[in-house]
Amino acid sequence: MKGPPRTINIVGAGLAGALLALLLARRGLAVTLFERRPDPRQAQPERGRSINLALAARGLRALERAGVLARVQPLLIPMRGRMVHERDGRAALQPYGQREHEIIFSVGRADLNRVLIDEAARHGRVTVRFGQTCLGADTASARLTFRDGSGGQYTVPLVPTVATDGAGSAVRASLAAAGLVRVREEWLDHDYKELTIAAAAAAALERHALHIWPRGGFMLIALPNTDGSFTATLFLPRTGAPSFTALGSAAAVTALFSREFPDTLPLLPDLAAQFAAHPQGQLGTVHTEPWRVGGEVLLLGDAAHAIVPFHGQGMNAAFEDCSQLDELLGGDEDWAAAFAAFEAARAANAAAIARMAIENYDEMRAAVLDAGFVRRRALALGLERRFPGRFIPRYSMVMFHPEIPYAEALRRGAVQETLLRELDAGPGAEPDPALAERLVTQRLSPL
Ligand code: FAD
Repeated sequence: MKGPPRTINIVGAGLAGALLALLLARRGLAVTLFERRPDPRQAQPERGRSINLALAARGLRALERAGVLARVQPLLIPMRGRMVHERDGRAALQPYGQREHEIIFSVGRADLNRVLIDEAARHGRVTVRFGQTCLGADTASARLTFRDGSGGQYTVPLVPTVATDGAGSAVRASLAAAGLVRVREEWLDHDYKELTIAAAAAAALERHALHIWPRGGFMLIALPNTDGSFTATLFLPRTGAPSFTALGSAAAVTALFSREFPDTLPLLPDLAAQFAAHPQGQLGTVHTEPWRVGGEVLLLGDAAHAIVPFHGQGMNAAFEDCSQLDELLGGDEDWAAAFAAFEAARAANAAAIARMAIENYDEMRAAVLDAGFVRRRALALGLERRFPGRFIPRYSMVMFHPEIPYAEALRRGAVQETLLRELDAGPGAEPDPALAERLVTQRLSPL
């Protein structure tokens, strides 16, 4: 079999691109990493991107594989559960898991990206070229086209290229235009807007939690930052009532927050000004098929499969992509075989997390306040304690069990949900322990 060429292009030095560059350099490849932004180690972060992200076991495992976890660790703030805030100001913590290590972490996107780029750039085999905007890939001429900072265009040889240029991937668009891949974008009819809760105002907020103000059709969340501030994100329909369209004035914004999130008003003294100044972001799912053209181009991370952020898994899935590709390049497989094996291994998992991410929006904005949901969640944790080798709540499989693929978490999660509904005896009633044992052992194979 043909050994892989010793050089590779990566387009996009975001979270996945920078990590992949590091992983591939560690296995001896010479990597050229192209990025349209300036060097983030010298420039201010781009406006309008989510400021912090939830990092969980899948992402941590990939960072560990790349040998970079020790440098990332100081950036991480543990979050032990969801702090659910009701309209009347009551708040209660719903722990994410039931073991000490079953926590997730808030991490600043810009800080994490800076560390990954720095680690990649310090590696002798990685050349990072900032300020280079990829305009697309042309497999017929086997070239990638770029525009540089002065507006000039140039091309470089294509083979092989991994495109990690994010949800709006220019490489994906060029392959789609050439009829080489099919793309379906499903836009959510809810947008988001980020607001900063300054450190001085945030003292009253529990730091080791992901805060949620679920309001049925919409929600506000907040994640902690290392400087003591929090980043809050409002998810709201684009049109209707309430909606972003209906929030055209400072008075309307203040009225919505006074009615729905009154306990946040002291946290956001400059609410109306921030609301007017900050961009409104769109959310969607990108389905692409296939993700590759022979051994020449591979789409990876959001470029292949962007998802909505409600399971906090887009970056985690992109990092898992990176380690899986690295794993598949072991031995002397060629790129075409490695790209094909990568897509075969990842496509069903990407589809599964895309679906679970949408489903989790309902859970976050509505179900967490529902008595039946809270009861079944307690029942699920009880079953996990009793049958740890068979029953693991779906949320825990996704967030804390990277050894369970997303598609398997989706499949087992559906079986478990039916089982929980059968066992749920209603408010105040205990489930039948013998029935629980029978259903769990009959329906759930050992993990
Ligand atoms: P990106 O991080 O988008 O990186 C793409 C890179 O390519 C960027 O550096 C960009 O500048 C560069 N680029 C783009 N176009 C070009 C071009 N033409 N030429 C050259 N370079 C280019 N995920 C989680 O795991 N947990 C969370 O809590 C979470 N929260 C989120 C909240 C929000 C509001 C959003 C929108 C997303 C969230 N995500 C979360 C998802 C996460 O941000 C993405 O899945 C992740 O950034 C994907 O990484 P990537 O490297 O594939 O793409």
